[in-house]
Amino acid sequence: MTFTDLHLHRTILHAVEEEGYTTPTPIQQQAIPVILEEHDLVACAQTGTGKTAAFAIPILHYLHRIVGGNTKRKQLRTLVLTPTRELAIQVQESFETYGKYTNITSMVLYGGVNQTPQVEQLKKGFDVLIATPGRLLDLHKQGFVNFDGLHHLVLDEADLMLDMGFINDVKKTIKLIPENRQTLLFSATMPLAIRELADSILKSPKYVAV
Ligand code: AMP
Repeated sequence: MTFTDLHLHRTILHAVEEEGYTTPTPIQQQAIPVILEEHDLVACAQTGTGKTAAFAIPILHYLHRIVGGNTKRKQLRTLVLTPTRELAIQVQESFETYGKYTNITSMVLYGGVNQTPQVEQLKKGFDVLIATPGRLLDLHKQGFVNFDGLHHLVLDEADLMLDMGFINDVKKTIKLIPENRQTLLFSATMPLAIRELADSILKSPKYVAV
């Protein structure tokens, strides 16, 4: 299988090819078609398997179709929750790289820094938000984040979010998000608490593992 077989928009395919990728990794081969078909997904995959591109590429494909050439009216459509600031930054870099020939814009939010510049950036509008759970909830409580137009929710490294004690913040955030959405859960391991979370927040998910 090649990336061409996945029938991605030319703009996205071009950016992926520029990265030097020719063959999708196993997690990408399994996950990308499922995500493009708009199923919910539970994916068991470690860092280093290409899991970020496995969700960023099909989400960008969807957003490009919805947003197209419209650069003016930005609305939050994709939320990626990550356990750490470093991972949030890496995920945003992936969205920027694979989406560089689209009009899709993204923003990253994490705790431990002054919120004022983040609030200014939030007011500008964008399509994709990558955030750590605590700071996101904080800014939502203050009225700076609106989830009404959200279509994709990604939980990245869900087991690490559990280990780091973020699971309640994650659950609180999910309650604020429209139910009519596509939810993708990525985790290196599948402890009971993650399987229970998946059962309670995903709708008839497909399962993939590498
Ligand atoms: P990740 O598992 O998302 O942390 O990705 C691990 C690394 O694999 C990143 O540096 C990506 O740039 C790279 N990568 C992702 N997909 C591919 C691919 N299909 N071919 C070659 N490298 C890839």
